[in-house]
Amino acid sequence: MPKYIFITGGVVSSLGKGVACSSLGLLLKKRGLKVTLQKFDPYLNVDPGTMNPFQHGEVFVLDDGSETDLDLGHYERFLDESLTKDSNVTTGQVYGEVISRERRGDYLGATVQVVPHITDEIKRRARKVAEKNGDVDVVITEIGGTVGDIEGLPFLESIRQMGLENGHSNTLYIHLTLVPYVESAGEVKTKPTQHSVKELREIGIQPDILLCRTSKPLSKQIKDKIGLFCNVPSHAVIEAIDVESIYEIPLIFHQQGLDDLVCRHLDLACEKPDLTKWEKMVQRIKHPKHQVKIGICGKYTNLRDSYKSIIEAFIHAGEENEAKVELSWISSEDMEKDGAEKYLKDIDGVLIPGGFGERGIEGKIEAVRFIREHKIPFFGICLGMQCAVIECARNICDMKGANSTEFDRHTEYPVISLLAEQEKVVDKGATMRLGAYPCNLDKSSFSFKAYGELSISERHRHRYEFNNRFKEVLCKAGMRIAGTSPDKSLVEIIEIEDHPWFVGVQFHPELKSRPLKAHPLFRDFVKASLRYKSSKDLKMVGEKEPLTKR
Ligand code: GLN
Repeated sequence: MPKYIFITGGVVSSLGKGVACSSLGLLLKKRGLKVTLQKFDPYLNVDPGTMNPFQHGEVFVLDDGSETDLDLGHYERFLDESLTKDSNVTTGQVYGEVISRERRGDYLGATVQVVPHITDEIKRRARKVAEKNGDVDVVITEIGGTVGDIEGLPFLESIRQMGLENGHSNTLYIHLTLVPYVESAGEVKTKPTQHSVKELREIGIQPDILLCRTSKPLSKQIKDKIGLFCNVPSHAVIEAIDVESIYEIPLIFHQQGLDDLVCRHLDLACEKPDLTKWEKMVQRIKHPKHQVKIGICGKYTNLRDSYKSIIEAFIHAGEENEAKVELSWISSEDMEKDGAEKYLKDIDGVLIPGGFGERGIEGKIEAVRFIREHKIPFFGICLGMQCAVIECARNICDMKGANSTEFDRHTEYPVISLLAEQEKVVDKGATMRLGAYPCNLDKSSFSFKAYGELSISERHRHRYEFNNRFKEVLCKAGMRIAGTSPDKSLVEIIEIEDHPWFVGVQFHPELKSRPLKAHPLFRDFVKASLRYKSSKDLKMVGEKEPLTKR
């Protein structure tokens, strides 16, 4: 039977519970244990696929096509393993399952209730993730939201029951709280943590370890006080201090003996973790040799969680290029108003990310024109690739009004359009082209140079596609079809030949970038941007100091 670690959160949200779970997962994996991670999300949606990014942040798509919470991205990145739909459980899925069983008559004669029917289904899903992953030693389950949320109660009740059923040495409860620093008092305050633990204990859960998020180091007295009031030994009060890079968190947890503590409680005999490579990576992230400025031109630029995986992919790619990638967030609507030059003139590379809906589209298309003409490195992802196709059609091939049918149903030149099978789709949930699809590359492309192999697999999340009717005319004008589905029916990558680095991909490469294994396209895009920057600097030296040349 696997051991279960349950991580709950208290006081406020956004304390980094997902990163804390992932960090512990990494430490246990490095000790030779087989670990898997799972998230319980208490909202009623079946999955986050239908939610607005402003509410929920990025939707993280897995190989199997499930649309999941962005924390699954952290899990995959830290564990360096691909997960499946069983790793994300929502209230919507749990109730959906129980209600359809009730309609089938599975509970005939019974009154269907939260306890035991809903809690049984939650526990079944916690066990299923372990079974599906083979012989796992440890399942780490994160409970979304904060203690005290109404929606979270069935999940907390389920993990309480699992502790009772599995026994103390097979179950560990970790609670992550905030220990705020109060400026006027000049000290950190433990009361919110005390209240949060009290609430948890009222439900019947006594945490074994507390992770205390804080901006100031916690003294021994503070840890003792928290321990005393929360009924936790003070050596199990772990400081989760604010750090520069999330990749430092496993290291600070390990320094405080978190993984030892966990293994001792769960009676897991295992070696010490070898973190040398990880430590070196963190050093390279914190002390880069070079710097490069990448513009991200999108609609949700004031909500960074919408682009979580892209931000992380740039950290991995920067680390491999020994560079700090400074991201400059540019609203495509501002660009629509003021033109591209104002925002792009001192940028070394531009990325246009995925997105939905018409707002800001013309700004993105204008950005592509500027980038293409000024030979600035360009990386278009999903909608970004579609904008590049529209721009080339309009401005190189003279197809006035060329568009995606997502934005103009009646355009004369529908260069991006729906496949026949998508035309019939009515439901919005889980009906896009989702998950991993194979793609074959053209040997002469930037993409092949980056991947170094001819067949790749990448994750998708979109409805619209490149319209093959326009392939020939666009290719004559200098576009290269750099990647297609194996049967060649779907265009997956476009490039511009006469350009230092111009790549648009229909899939989402950011979802597969991992620390110490940067995604090849992100890595080469950063490299091309560094090259562009140094050529720009050389040109400037030449312009300013003509005399030194003599
Ligand atoms: N809106 C576009 C489509 O549905 C692009 C989607 C995306 O960028 N993820 O095809």
